[in-house]
Amino acid sequence: MNIGILSVQGAVSEHEISMKRAFLRRGIEGKVIKVKRADSLREVDGLIIPGGESSTISRLLDRFELRENLLERADEGMNIMGTCAGAILLAKEGDHSVGRTDTELLGLMDMSVVRNSFGRQRESFERHLEVSGIARDFPGVFIRAPSITRVWGDCRALSSVEGIVVAAQEGNYLALSFHPELTGDTRIHEYFLDRTKSSILHRPSKNC
Ligand code: GLN
Repeated sequence: MNIGILSVQGAVSEHEISMKRAFLRRGIEGKVIKVKRADSLREVDGLIIPGGESSTISRLLDRFELRENLLERADEGMNIMGTCAGAILLAKEGDHSVGRTDTELLGLMDMSVVRNSFGRQRESFERHLEVSGIARDFPGVFIRAPSITRVWGDCRALSSVEGIVVAAQEGNYLALSFHPELTGDTRIHEYFLDRTKSSILHRPSKNC
């Protein structure tokens, strides 16, 4: 099983380390692949879109001709986890700060996001979170984090801070406002691995 990390900008190596640990802890054989080109997207069963700068990642998705292939793979059922900037990109709707930077959202999840919702870099904070169905007491690290202001359709809120939604899930997609890769806690990476593994096992065979 291969997990890709979109590697055009942002916190790539931290996710790589966490995911390698998660493979070991779950006893699952597999590789972590840094995805910089469209052909690597074919090799991965799940993809992480890391934190960084959503406007930059959006621009680079087009420059490296990754957007269309990513959406195609998503359509085929690929699991995707977006953290922070990655969560913004998964959304269908963004606030004026998303619009102002010409960020083109992937629009895979029925949710609205507000960029930099908790303030600037120096207002970064850590909060222990209950992430429904995934982890209790998870150390959430928030750095210029977005909030999820509305979910609809099949999208479900999984976690909140003082009533503000900071994690959501819709089918194969998981969006987190915070950075699980910046903690030693790999529970969310392990969860993502397990889900990806089970979606491979339940994938309809092309031969029948
Ligand atoms: N504020 C950044 C953005 O809008 C996200 C910050 C992060 O990923 N840590 O893309």
